[in-house]
Amino acid sequence: MKEIDQLLLSNRAWAAEMLHENPEFFQRNVNLQRPAFLWIGCSDSRVAPDQMTQALPGGLFVHRNIANLVYPTDRNLMAVLHYAVNVLEIAHVVICGHYGCGGIQAALDGTVEGPIADWLDHAYQVLNDHRAEIEALPPGEERVNRLVEVNVRDQLLHLAGTEPVQSAFAAGKPLTLHGWVYDLRDGHIKPLMRIDADTVLAELPQPERVLL
Ligand SMILES: [Zn+2]
Repeated sequence: MKEIDQLLLSNRAWAAEMLHENPEFFQRNVNLQRPAFLWIGCSDSRVAPDQMTQALPGGLFVHRNIANLVYPTDRNLMAVLHYAVNVLEIAHVVICGHYGCGGIQAALDGTVEGPIADWLDHAYQVLNDHRAEIEALPPGEERVNRLVEVNVRDQLLHLAGTEPVQSAFAAGKPLTLHGWVYDLRDGHIKPLMRIDADTVLAELPQPERVLL
């Protein structure tokens, strides 16, 4: 059997299983989505937000891109963010990076070209802004993983500065931004930092190093 056919077969098996557990499941999802969370994560296939958090369909509103970068000029992400905050009235936005991120590794190596290099512009910026700390570490895994952590922090700051988030903060909406990192080696998500309306962005500290 072709690999692609296996996806379709697995889908039928999954749908049957969901229906068996809850005959109302799909009907309930047809007319309404009320997710409580917006997830902004890396496109990496090993970092699967729904499975990692045991969220069911309807639980997470999701945006993914290489290295979980936040550009205020990214129409895709800005549309997702606007809809999440203003229409779905989501109260928690998570940016989740992951150790061993290929995009962050590429930014560190500076070896990619073309569309990926263009996309990684913000990651290069993070490296430039934290170069002294990163280069003080041994080359290899430690540098990549620390850059992953500070990248989450800096993207969280970009997110906090966007129009939908600033407007929600100003209007007193209960919105909190969370910076997390996922560890491929043990499957654990580790919270790094959070931002809400009371956070003074200029005083946002560096995240603690959580990977030894
Ligand atoms: Zn990644």
